Amino acid sequence: RLELRDLRKSFGALEVLAGISLHVAAGEFVSILGPSGAGKSTLFQLLTGAIRGEGEMRFDGAPLDGARFAFMPQRDALMPWRRIIDNATLGLEVQGMKRSEARERVAPLFAEFGLAGFERAWPAELSGGMRQRAALLRTVVQQRDMLLLDEPFGALDALTRAAMQRWLETIWRSHRWTALLITHDVREAVLLSDRIYVLSERPARIVREVAVPLPRPRTESAEPAREAAA
Ligand code: ATP
Ligand code: MG
Repeated sequence: RLELRDLRKSFGALEVLAGISLHVAAGEFVSILGPSGAGKSTLFQLLTGAIRGEGEMRFDGAPLDGARFAFMPQRDALMPWRRIIDNATLGLEVQGMKRSEARERVAPLFAEFGLAGFERAWPAELSGGMRQRAALLRTVVQQRDMLLLDEPFGALDALTRAAMQRWLETIWRSHRWTALLITHDVREAVLLSDRIYVLSERPARIVREVAVPLPRPRTESAEPAREAAA
């Protein structure tokens, strides 16, 4: 369980985070919904340890270590000079895995991510939606405790974004990653999340916490029970 208490961050005179407190339990998909420039990406920079701020960050009771997270950045997630397969293995290689082993780990996911046959392609040869799926593949395959997804679909056109949201919602059901998603798309947050934190404009504070009232059919028991009865 991730627990943040009263996180604060200023850049010089610019106050960006004005006391953020939130938690994410294992298995939960939580969204942070907030306006542009509120300080959402700054929050993730604090979590990954890229920058320092004030406040308390704990994971399962212990001081937070950025290595808990698999992070998908808002921009430039793929390296244009690496083929898709080599982008997909990047996170694992950073963890010290041999490239050959990393390739074996990522290969089975290509079909599920709609990228079968594109292993050897360059990022520039893919559509925007495919690039985001490739970046997401690289992120989930790291098998960290939690995914940090910063506006994964934010730069896509509306139709592609809607298709990607439905796709992620579907594959999430079989993987159940613990995730913290940043978005400014209300519909996306409602479709994907168990809970949503709504941020104010900068300096960001949490103005609302909402449990999504219509749960997705995600409980382990629902469908197998019906099968057993049939
Ligand atoms: P968006 O929805 O557009 O991605 P955001 O909520 O992610 O916005 P941040 O990127 O966290 O917003 O930026 C919040 C504010 O902090 C902005 O005003 C930005 O200019 C400022 N900021 C972010 N990083 C730095 C930095 N390293 N130095 C100075 N100011 C920064
Ligand atoms: Mg941002």
